Amino acid sequence: MVKWVYTFGAGKAEGSSDMRDLLGGKGAGLAEMANLGLPVPPGFTITTEVCTYFYENERRFPPQLAADVETALGFIGRLTGKAFGDNEAPLLLSVRSGARASMPGMMDTVLNLGLNDVTVRALAQNSGDERFAYDSYRRFIQMYSSVVLGIGHHHFEDAVEYHKEARGVTFDTELGAEDWEKLIVAFKAKVVEASGKPFPQAPKEQLWGAIAAVFGSWLTPRAITYRRIHGIPANWGTAVNVQAMVFGNMGPTSATGVAFTRNPSTGAKELYGEFLLNAQGEDVVAGIRTPNAITEASRCAAGSDQPSMETALPAVFAEFVRATELLERHYRDMQDVEFTVENGKLWMLQTRTGKRTSVAALRVAVDMTHEGLIARDEAIARVDPASLDQLLHPAIDPVATRKVIATGLPASPGAASGEIAFTADEAEQMKNMGRKVILVRIETSPDDIHGMHAAEGVLTTRGGMTSHAAVVARGMGKPCVTGAAAIRVDYANATMSAAGVTFKRGDMLTLDGATGEVIQGAIEMSQPELSGEFAILMKWADEVRRMQVRANAETPPDARAARKFGADGIGLCRTEHMFFETDRLTAVRQMILADDLAGRRAALAKLLPMQRGDFIELFEIMGGLPVTIRLLDPPLHEFLPQTAAEIDEVAEALGVPAEKICSRLADLREVNPMLGFRGSRLAIAFPEIAEMQARAIFEAAVEVKRRTGELVRPEIMTPLIIAKPEFDLIKAKVDAIARTVAEETGQAVPYTVGTMVETPRASLRAGEIAESAAFLSFGTNDLTQTCMALSRDDASSFLGRYVALGILPADPFVTIDQDGVGELVAIGVERSRAARPGIKLGICGEHGGDPATIAFCEKLGLDYVSCSPFRVPIARLAAAQATLRRKASNTD
Ligand code: ADP
Ligand code: MG
Ligand code: MG
Repeated sequence: MVKWVYTFGAGKAEGSSDMRDLLGGKGAGLAEMANLGLPVPPGFTITTEVCTYFYENERRFPPQLAADVETALGFIGRLTGKAFGDNEAPLLLSVRSGARASMPGMMDTVLNLGLNDVTVRALAQNSGDERFAYDSYRRFIQMYSSVVLGIGHHHFEDAVEYHKEARGVTFDTELGAEDWEKLIVAFKAKVVEASGKPFPQAPKEQLWGAIAAVFGSWLTPRAITYRRIHGIPANWGTAVNVQAMVFGNMGPTSATGVAFTRNPSTGAKELYGEFLLNAQGEDVVAGIRTPNAITEASRCAAGSDQPSMETALPAVFAEFVRATELLERHYRDMQDVEFTVENGKLWMLQTRTGKRTSVAALRVAVDMTHEGLIARDEAIARVDPASLDQLLHPAIDPVATRKVIATGLPASPGAASGEIAFTADEAEQMKNMGRKVILVRIETSPDDIHGMHAAEGVLTTRGGMTSHAAVVARGMGKPCVTGAAAIRVDYANATMSAAGVTFKRGDMLTLDGATGEVIQGAIEMSQPELSGEFAILMKWADEVRRMQVRANAETPPDARAARKFGADGIGLCRTEHMFFETDRLTAVRQMILADDLAGRRAALAKLLPMQRGDFIELFEIMGGLPVTIRLLDPPLHEFLPQTAAEIDEVAEALGVPAEKICSRLADLREVNPMLGFRGSRLAIAFPEIAEMQARAIFEAAVEVKRRTGELVRPEIMTPLIIAKPEFDLIKAKVDAIARTVAEETGQAVPYTVGTMVETPRASLRAGEIAESAAFLSFGTNDLTQTCMALSRDDASSFLGRYVALGILPADPFVTIDQDGVGELVAIGVERSRAARPGIKLGICGEHGGDPATIAFCEKLGLDYVSCSPFRVPIARLAAAQATLRRKASNTD
């Protein structure tokens, strides 16, 4: 028989932390905490299999479930001395969602369930606090109505406002038991008005309504959006946790809060959290009241005069510290916990792996290794390579002048400038128009996810470090400033004002997520520091990884960045990029448009010294590391003169009439440039171009050897070939130039000649090509285009639909299409290795910095990947992780 329900409480549980798939993250965590002997209110988890059953059976439950829930309710009753539905000692419950992957705030929770017109009186009696009882009941009606009955909060808030006005008070806290009692009558009337039915009084009916609603919340639009952004499969489903209520709003020795076992922004080893005295759970995360610090240290750091939990509730604080230390040691990772204190007694309500910034992820991984908690390999595996991106991007230049208009909490680091948007939809629209956006909200809610996704950074005027905005922004790796109370937002007029200035939608704003500063206008950004934990983890990764990581670089700044980011060499130097500068462009145009050899030679003679100078600089910067230089691969149309002035200029340089240039341009016009006169076809038609480049390379190598003593071994690469004879012809020219330069200079340069593999035919014929090519570099951008007949420049109009419909698993220009393009690579690898064992193989192009593609390259046993300099650290870490995974699967 299938077990649908797992209980936990009183030092033991039927489940455990390794049953995440079945119990969801929250359920598994509650079970594990109970097993560890931590104080957890007793309860039970209804499994994710019930969710699957529910959706496969027209939202009905398995027949056995009702009886299982009944038994589990009895279990809670015995441990609490209360009974669900009892009128004297009523058991009150929370009904909580809990998916396998954490989806903070995305799904619904109902608290105080089991209250009705009768049990509320028992609660008042038993607690000796009428106000507390009626406040709890009205909260329950609000939450239940919103989650289960679909009646929005504003219906009730309006009633509260109206009542406060009538009573002449400003704050909810000024309302007493009688006020709430009256409001409950009004609330219930609202429910009848909105749903046509009375608010359910029977606890059983309430319970099943809530359970069905939580399962139902798996398919709300916001949950679907969140899963899409975070790549969580829809078929995982959620579990439902039903748990005895404990109350943080029972008076001055009651409290509720959330905490991280380490600082989630910096990773520092210090308990970091927020709490509210006399409050119920949601108050902290919802950003309704700005919470207080848990420790004295962070209270002082924040300069707050509100007491910390350490001073307000010292005994509970000490117990809480022990519990968090135990959890961190047990899970061997930073935990994010939720807790409530009821009349001086601590209750743990949730534990999960804490979301953290990439700075913190690095620091925690390195620190925990040094503390002996985890092994180096685990530290490497724990940092998401893509998250390094955040560290590699600019921060606000420390010396730039800042016009700070307000300071809030530094909720998620990094800096961003953008135009102000006041709603999520607006942010998304502006982003779609190619603008950079800062989303400004009083506070964010799960309905704003798409706007936060679209924005460069998020600013809120309310809420703390654990508010919704802060948690979500950190998860997305975006800068965020919360609780910037000095800013007044006026949604109705789409303006905000601070420091006496009014800002409109579209005005420029800069956020510094590291300091919490909100700055007027756009501002200079500075380059990142790559020391400390970053350097340590990278060193560990380098010791582990098998593949080389090279950079695609042609300019001196790119080459310097490549070295700074730890590249093992240059894997792709695109020489055509060296020709784009204005002083060279005319010479290049002259070369292309010349209609005879003499004209071309004259142009090439101008280019030779420039090219030689380029290579000298590049070789010097790379200091003996390998450099792969690709012969000219012109996107011809990009080089051709367009305007009359440009045509005249070339005509003059060539000494021919402009009409002649125009007719030559007409000759060169192509219907389909992607399949046209490009790649090695140019070197076949005009070998003197390749000869000039080869000469520049060899002469530069000789010169650098002379200057620095460093031996340069250039790797020369031909672009886009389709056949071995094509390669052989070009290679023969290069070899001849090598001999000539050696004779002229008396210096033989060690070099190799290889080729790009960018056409299916080159892959299929890799066996014979490898007989003469010393190395192959799979150019997966073009290989994807040629394999799929998909032009990268034109695909955007339909590619999105292909991915959305599941025709393609992902954008093939971002992650390599393993099944198709990947098979061509695999064939090329196999055939070239068979012909020339030990042949050097790599890939270059956008894919070279994509972790999923890197894992695929590791499987194929490639020697290197080459990617843009900024992605080199990502690739180094991803390559190390790929090596570790391959080793682990070999030993399985
Ligand atoms: P989420 O998944 O959005 O974090 P939770 O299920 O954790 O939602 O519930 C939100 C908050 O409700 C918790 O942080 C906690 O403060 C409160 N809560 C949940 N269950 C209980 C309970 N049994 N007793 C008291 N408070 C609870
Ligand atoms: Mg929670
Ligand atoms: Mg190409």
